[in-house]
Amino acid sequence: MEDSADTIEFTDLSKFRRKSEAPPFPLVGIVGQQVMKKAVLLAASNPSVGNIILIGEAGTGKSTTARGLRDILPEIEVVNGCSYSCDPKNKSALCQDCKSSVKDLSAYPRRMPLLELPIGASESRIFGGFDSQSRLKPGYVGQANRGYLLLTRANLLEPDVLDRLIDISETGTHRNKSEHGDFSHPAKFNIIATMNPEDGELEPEVLERFSMSVKVQSIKDIEERIEIVRRVESYRQDPAGFVSRNRREMEAFAARVKRARDLMNRVDMPKKVEGTMGKVLKQVGQESDSVKHAFREAAFANAAFGDRVWVTVDDVAEIAELVLGHRQP
Ligand SMILES: [Zn+2]
Repeated sequence: MEDSADTIEFTDLSKFRRKSEAPPFPLVGIVGQQVMKKAVLLAASNPSVGNIILIGEAGTGKSTTARGLRDILPEIEVVNGCSYSCDPKNKSALCQDCKSSVKDLSAYPRRMPLLELPIGASESRIFGGFDSQSRLKPGYVGQANRGYLLLTRANLLEPDVLDRLIDISETGTHRNKSEHGDFSHPAKFNIIATMNPEDGELEPEVLERFSMSVKVQSIKDIEERIEIVRRVESYRQDPAGFVSRNRREMEAFAARVKRARDLMNRVDMPKKVEGTMGKVLKQVGQESDSVKHAFREAAFANAAFGDRVWVTVDDVAEIAELVLGHRQP
């Protein structure tokens, strides 16, 4: 049994899915890996958390987890026909087309975008540019506006491309200068990156630009491995059926994420908890503004995901490893 458990991995699923256009394997169908699932749900609950990276060997379900988030993200109102999913109510963050539109901007609901950057995508596909008729074609960074950009095997990207992607996600705007003309558009997205350390390491200063990280371990427990095989087989035989059997649980998580998002601007951190957070950060020598910000927002997300508007010391304890685990002492 152990042999067959070792031969079926989550990585097989993406190849299978591309072939058959099957719906993605649901997040709730992933066995174990509670910390990884929690981290992506926190990133979905509070976009202010910033970018996250899932680190682990092949077959641990990193990309499957990130892709599974797509069905859990809430709906947003977007301008009809806009490639950047502009928010018709947020006039200050409109793209040029929406700004110059003489018509009223009609809104329609759609699920928040989660785009996966294909491995080997050209820079013009990633960042966009002008076509032969001088029309601006948005790249992934534009299409991911107001959502999430999934970078699988982020450590295989050209270092300057990864740096640029992180820069754009931090500023929320993409400004590009090119020989065909300059352009700028909204690009407010969060990155969910994955990496397998066997492909090579990321420089510590790049890794530290991620707000949260998860070190994903492969599952050793034989009963859990058998359960993985059982679920993967069940999904392979009937992807739509498998997804539909998990529908109720997925909807419950989607409702929790939506509720957390609605609560976010009411969440508060009591002075006592603030003090504890400060002490922890001082002890580990991580007192930069960016670490403080990540720690705070992750704790807020954890509280809101728990349906609370106050942060507790337990929230701080639960997210500490996610925020601090990948930073140099
Ligand atoms: Zn627009």
